[in-house]
Amino acid sequence: MTMQPAALPETGRSSYDAGAILRRQRARESAARTYARSFPIVPARAQGMVIEGVDGSRYLDCLSGAGTLALGHNHPVVLEAIRRTIDSGAPLHVLDLATPEKDDFTDALFATLPKAFADRARVHFCGPAGTDAVEAALKLMQTATGRRGVLAFTGAYHGMTAGALAASGGVGVKRPVPGIAADVTRLPFPYSYRCPFGTGGERGAELSAAYTERLLDDPNGGVVPPAAMILEAVQGEGGVVPSPDGWLRAMRRITAERDIPLVVDEVQTGVGRTGAFWAVEHSGIVPDAIVMSKAIGGSQPLAVLVYHEDYDGWLPGAHTGTFRGNTLAMAAGAATLRHVAREELAERAATVGARMLARLDGLRAELPAIGDVRGRGLMIGVELVDPEAEPDSCGARPGAPALAAQVRSACLDRGLIVELGGRFDATVRLLPPLIITDEQAETVLDRLADAITEVTALQRAGRTA
Ligand code: PMP
Repeated sequence: MTMQPAALPETGRSSYDAGAILRRQRARESAARTYARSFPIVPARAQGMVIEGVDGSRYLDCLSGAGTLALGHNHPVVLEAIRRTIDSGAPLHVLDLATPEKDDFTDALFATLPKAFADRARVHFCGPAGTDAVEAALKLMQTATGRRGVLAFTGAYHGMTAGALAASGGVGVKRPVPGIAADVTRLPFPYSYRCPFGTGGERGAELSAAYTERLLDDPNGGVVPPAAMILEAVQGEGGVVPSPDGWLRAMRRITAERDIPLVVDEVQTGVGRTGAFWAVEHSGIVPDAIVMSKAIGGSQPLAVLVYHEDYDGWLPGAHTGTFRGNTLAMAAGAATLRHVAREELAERAATVGARMLARLDGLRAELPAIGDVRGRGLMIGVELVDPEAEPDSCGARPGAPALAAQVRSACLDRGLIVELGGRFDATVRLLPPLIITDEQAETVLDRLADAITEVTALQRAGRTA
């Protein structure tokens, strides 16, 4: 039987005072708080795609815990797995000891992997964040190769700890940390709309591959043999930029020919998000390691590194950590992985995502502030631009970050949670759960289109006033 999340039952307002809670948060939490700044809401309950605030207001959640909630909030199979585990008396924290729940999670995870990768794979359970699994990947490959440097891409996001931050592209978060970019060689990611070579399209991707290859072979190119290349098949925080499958195959060939381990960061793209269970399946490449987190824990914190057994040369305790054995995350994660596979939710993401992209593409004619629409599966980006400004050689107009921030807030006013990302934070990102219904998908786009229409009309009125 297909289990669908029930609708959120009717409720009155709760007795909490949203304004007071938000005021206390502002006063007590750090200046680095993030989403709380863009979404001044106080969630009280949630189910499926719907979040309800303490004041009773409801939102369709297209952020999904930054791509974590493949099954939306509080899905029945996740709740059932958590309840069953609690009722069984299983220890909830066990470091990295063997448990039936971890054993079962490992079975479920390996069953989802491409066969050529799974057959000779090892898994390392990491501290429960994507960034720690990225650190583990870099350290593993540095240990295996005896080399230090990392090849990483423009627009990349790999996390906020030292190694992962060094590999990320965001200048704003790196600049305040002296020395953070040491030993990273930055390569051009094929971003067609803002092509680093000024050409765009397939040609831009070909140039990116040719540049990479020539740089690595140039005896005066400045790049000593690196420990690894790390990339996202679809850049998420970088503004939802899918890489062409042919480009990814070129990266696999280039790294294999030069004995450079290829690490694919599937923290955000994994578990059906892009329309395949793992995004590497679109191109058919077999990487040397895949970094996984977010959706694999079924809403609970979990991160793993899966890699070819030939690299398994590190010492016992080489990447240890206290919180690597969260029993509830193993149970919720195994239930999620199996449900996504059984219900063919990756295929569903491909179908609904393609439909949403087509409708968004159609909106470009009537809403010139939409500069670019792109994505894969249910990872969708709408880049907002200044329609009055001159286009560059690729036809791209300058990003419109202020407009994008207004659109985000106009969406919230309409009961829709969307986050921004990409260059100058001008791309609206849609990351709905894979269980989104056709009706919800239409409502999301209605609200987004309405928000963009209103904000651009206000802007035009301001210009002519
Ligand atoms: N890699 C990618 C591709 C991500 O999208 C993220 C998080 N947005 C991370 C790594 C870091 O994960 P975490 O925030 O759990 O450390």
